[in-house]
Amino acid sequence: MGLETIFGNSYITTRLDAAINWARKFSFFQYPFVTACCGMEFMSTWASTYDIARFGAEYPRFSPRQADVLFVVGTVNQKLAPILKRVYDQMCEPKWVVAFGACATSGGFYDNYAVVDGIDRIIPVDIYIPGCPPRPEAVLDALMKLQDKVSRESVMDKK
Ligand code: SF4
Repeated sequence: MGLETIFGNSYITTRLDAAINWARKFSFFQYPFVTACCGMEFMSTWASTYDIARFGAEYPRFSPRQADVLFVVGTVNQKLAPILKRVYDQMCEPKWVVAFGACATSGGFYDNYAVVDGIDRIIPVDIYIPGCPPRPEAVLDALMKLQDKVSRESVMDKK
């Protein structure tokens, strides 16, 4: 049955923002910037048990130019910081950043000169996931929070 048969001469209106954001929030292409032990839990979240495909977020992109969500997973030290910034700068707008785990969020239990105490000192962060490492359920919760954030943005927003 075609759409014309269902809707006849009627039509549907929506805001452009709502239509675009609906497509964006169900088609995240994530770039995994994985540096440490949190990577194990990151991989388990992307395994079949948690069915990340229902969020449209299952395809990683290993080129920043093809990604719109940067997942920073694990400890970031001072030597890595410029590389992380460069990866972020190479991503096109719109783009979002997720700090995955205690180390990415705040430096975790490392309290020394070598470790960056939170990636938000280098790049803007949209969502923080607590835990050392975070449980997959926490990652799914973060994805839903990111979807909610995206759905409230406007295509006219400038970051
Ligand atoms: S938060 Fe814990 S599990 Fe994750 S990278 Fe840091 S020490 Fe490893």
